[in-house]
Amino acid sequence: SFRSKELENQISRRKAFLGPSLSTHYHNPILVERGRGTFLIDFRDQAFLDFVNNPASLGHCHPHVVRAAAEQLAQLNTNTRYVYAELTDYAEQLTRLFPEKLHVCFFVNSGSEANDLALRIARAHTKAQDFIVMEGAYHGHTEELIKISPYKFDGKGGFPQPANVWKVPVPDMFRGDHRSDSNPARSYALHVKTALDKMKTSGKRPAAFICEGMLSTAGYHPLPPRYLKQVYELVREEGGVCISDEVQSGFGRAGEGKMWGFELGDAVPDIVTLGKPMGNGFPLAAVVTTKELAASFANGMEYFNTFGGSTAAMRVGQAVLEIRRKRDREEERRRAVGRHLKKELNKLRDRHECIGDVRGSGLFLGLEFVRDKSSCLPAPGLTTYVVEASRCRGLLLGSDGIHNNVLKIKPPLCLSRFPCLLLLLLLLPLPLLLLLLLRLRLRLPLLPLLHSVFLNNPLDVHLHHFVSSPRHPTPHFPPLRKRASGLDGHRLGRSAL
Ligand code: PMP
Repeated sequence: SFRSKELENQISRRKAFLGPSLSTHYHNPILVERGRGTFLIDFRDQAFLDFVNNPASLGHCHPHVVRAAAEQLAQLNTNTRYVYAELTDYAEQLTRLFPEKLHVCFFVNSGSEANDLALRIARAHTKAQDFIVMEGAYHGHTEELIKISPYKFDGKGGFPQPANVWKVPVPDMFRGDHRSDSNPARSYALHVKTALDKMKTSGKRPAAFICEGMLSTAGYHPLPPRYLKQVYELVREEGGVCISDEVQSGFGRAGEGKMWGFELGDAVPDIVTLGKPMGNGFPLAAVVTTKELAASFANGMEYFNTFGGSTAAMRVGQAVLEIRRKRDREEERRRAVGRHLKKELNKLRDRHECIGDVRGSGLFLGLEFVRDKSSCLPAPGLTTYVVEASRCRGLLLGSDGIHNNVLKIKPPLCLSRFPCLLLLLLLLPLPLLLLLLLRLRLRLPLLPLLHSVFLNNPLDVHLHHFVSSPRHPTPHFPPLRKRASGLDGHRLGRSAL
């Protein structure tokens, strides 16, 4: 059958014991067992190159982080009502990564908790209730956050936009209304001004403007230069605070030698929220803010979070930063990888009628599929097809954006231009190589990887299979089931070429 018995069994048990609103990636979900660096490995030892990996951004199961967690859990794991060096050491190390005024940390366990707390701090400081948010944005899963996340309230199962939430358009430089204006950043920032004016006429004040440093769910759009700076000025003039949600774009994801997305916009927020890559997969998240805002929040009510700031979480955070500091020396190499990947994707765009835009920086890239370049109509069906078909060939990608036609590309930051380890293995004498592979029980998708080593980047390999030729902008694709059925009995990645 198309799905293995093991997978079917797991899926029916999920249905029995878990809420039906949980979803899985891919039509044929992956029954995962292990993670190693840039690879996820399934129960049959099939390795998948993981290109939608933000939490484990140092690579899956990084040994230094795993060791730090294990050692700390074996020694002590407790909460912030006790005094321990791990907490203060990590807070000090973390704040050093921010502009001087962002100096105070609150530790929590998820991006949602961080954003929820950020809203509370903003309300406490401004005594206001209204929020300006970006169209298509997602900030977390709590009741409060769903209400400020157009990605959710505008989507399936959504509800009308709450009266205290003001949505502004994405500064979209590909298909947006102001893309051809002489100063698009200004034109888009003026929408925030309009929202602030409307708020004023209805007798309201802004608590905060919340926006990612680089947009993710809204379609992987980098913000135009000076957009954030102008918006922050407008919001502050009306007494609101500026929150940068760096859950996705933080910790070097957006490249260009910048740690945070907001740095690309040359702006400094009042509150920053962190999550995903902070613990490399371990639940660790934070709010970083100013002394002034933290003081407004301290109204006598204790802030306590059982696991937030736990000894183990702090030790993991430190381990992640230790690796990052080492990797800082490799910054140039990492930049080269991001630029190479983007250059190759741009070559694909030039060759194929159905790729409208390639955007982003660092290893936070979006590729927008369109029906054809002249109409630029979104092609969500093709996007889903590419995602599914790539999965069948051992490459994990995802889709996002307001029209769900943007391929999201976020490989672990340890991605190298060439899979060096593999090259090294290939250079070893063959018997030793076989022995190693058997010992590791790790069967890599050799053909696509070989192709990527010697010819091009892996994505190119995959896209070549599915993307239309310029003369046939909307090609007919055979149903995935038919294509994949012959593959599933084998190790899928191997049959890629
Ligand atoms: N903010 C952004 C930008 C996110 O992408 C997410 C999660 N996808 C969150 C907040 C919520 O984080 P978590 O799932 O860790 O609660």
